[in-house]
Amino acid sequence: ELISIAIDGPAAAGKSTVAKQIAKKLGIIYVDTGAMYRALTYQTLQENIDLEDEKAVMEILNKIDIRLAQDKEGQRVFINEKDVTEAVRYPDVTASVSVIAKHPLVRKKMVAAQQELAQDNSVVMDGRDIGSHVLPDADVKIFLIASVTERAKRRFEENRQKGIPADLHTLEKEIEKRDELDSTREASPLVKAEDAVELDTTSLSIDDVTNKILEICQP
Ligand code: C5P
Repeated sequence: ELISIAIDGPAAAGKSTVAKQIAKKLGIIYVDTGAMYRALTYQTLQENIDLEDEKAVMEILNKIDIRLAQDKEGQRVFINEKDVTEAVRYPDVTASVSVIAKHPLVRKKMVAAQQELAQDNSVVMDGRDIGSHVLPDADVKIFLIASVTERAKRRFEENRQKGIPADLHTLEKEIEKRDELDSTREASPLVKAEDAVELDTTSLSIDDVTNKILEICQP
């Protein structure tokens, strides 16, 4: 029988790190839905299209193939045959992704693809609207939060390891701005599902969070 685990929460709360560990432990597929919105944002920027122009953005989405593939490290994202896993993490994409993600038609298409993945596979899926909208019947729903200072620190460290330039203050501002846009948009905003378990990870290690979630999965 297939199982589905939804992990939502604001930017840089540790969702992807924890979701990857859980996928590995349970031998199921990890789906990072943010990477799909990031890939479309990357392509829109490449083509110099106005991010606010939903029709033009949809034309791009309809002509490209955004594909998620599993590897040992987690997930890779492709636009057609091009591997954009690293490129979609760069600051220009991060700064624009919430504009792309607010468009209802964009969300409709992304959500359908995500639901299809969960129909054929056991998944741990991370995003903003997974428990509330994409997988309302998920077996386990987690909502991860952490203080903005802690989240900026974690993102700073992650970027440093990947060689992505960043400074702490800018990251903090960027995270706050993105949370604000994601929580206030009309189409399936960032919100804790009523039946989600909220975990504050501010003073928890990654392993602590993973173990807590695994406990919830296997009571
Ligand atoms: O999780 P990540 O930071 O990669 O997500 C990037 C952006 O994609 C979010 O800030 C949000 O605007 C959008 N997103 C979304 N719904 C999801 C996942 C991500 O709107 N399920």
